[in-house]
Amino acid sequence: MTSSSSTSVETVAAPALAKGGAVRDPAFRHDWQRAEILALFARPFNDLLFEAHSLHRRHFDPNRVQISTLLSVKTGGCPEDCKYCAQSARYDTEIGAEKLLALQEVVREARKAKEAGATRFCMGAAWRNPKERDLPHILEMVQAVKAMGLETCATLGMVTSEQAAALKEGGLDYYNHNVDTSEEFYSEIITTRTYQDRLDTLANVRAAGMKVCAGGIVGMGEARADRAGMLMTLANLPEHPESVPINLLIQVPGTPMADTEALDPVEFVRTVAVARILMPQSMVRLSAGREHMTDEMQALCFFAGANSIFQGEKLLTAGNPEATADRALFDRLGLKGEEPVGAAQPHR
Ligand code: SF4
Repeated sequence: MTSSSSTSVETVAAPALAKGGAVRDPAFRHDWQRAEILALFARPFNDLLFEAHSLHRRHFDPNRVQISTLLSVKTGGCPEDCKYCAQSARYDTEIGAEKLLALQEVVREARKAKEAGATRFCMGAAWRNPKERDLPHILEMVQAVKAMGLETCATLGMVTSEQAAALKEGGLDYYNHNVDTSEEFYSEIITTRTYQDRLDTLANVRAAGMKVCAGGIVGMGEARADRAGMLMTLANLPEHPESVPINLLIQVPGTPMADTEALDPVEFVRTVAVARILMPQSMVRLSAGREHMTDEMQALCFFAGANSIFQGEKLLTAGNPEATADRALFDRLGLKGEEPVGAAQPHR
């Protein structure tokens, strides 16, 4: 055992598993230091997974996985320059600019998602930020999807406090806005907005009273310190996001990241485990890149604390495992989808 992992066991693991209330529950920690998080990453794999799984089991049914479906309601033509994204107008990818989907189309997709077991339906638009003229259409979609008994989520880019309030008022349950990576690495990935812009939107969403979905992407050529930094940002928000999607980069041809070297799958599992330890009561979601994960890798992620997936053959514009493949995987692992809205709560 290295000295750093030994430090981690004494100063991080023990409080996490302490009983009797003498030690502050790490669910409420918002003061993580990067060195502590790196010490978690450096722990022997079995120790890290054991701790993450123990915390997971304390807060959730370990055999339930929440299922979300993500639909692109406005595809392509985005003015932003996110280097990983097929929808940026700046890169020569196969994705062209499309119009906002019609309401009936969104309702049809939401119905299909519900029949396939989804409890949450997320609508994504490739915008820097929503325009005022677009919001009424988005709100119609939100209300129609909500009326079907699904939780609603939207990811529309940066929102002002007024827009966040309008979305909340219109019935939106969750707003997704990822920090993507660490503050230090951010400008290597995106130059058309700042890390602070991301944090401002997250603050607007929280202030409006919506639930926050915020995570990031790994495998973009970042260092482990950046993965730790990304999780530190999320864990040190005033409230932990309710949902934390962990995306694995999809190397999309035509984007600047087409040839990025793939991340070691073990490092991805470690990232999931550390996310679980830092944010014990958040739903940790396996998101983009799941199509390229083996069943065994996904099983390790579920053990490490992942308890949410995106389902549907498309994830915005990228491929995703078929619902039948997910059902087969759930059967192999004895996992169950979450009950419909309101029925499943983390046990605390
Ligand atoms: S990630 Fe979102 S904001 Fe960035 S280019 Fe793609 S659609 Fe636009």
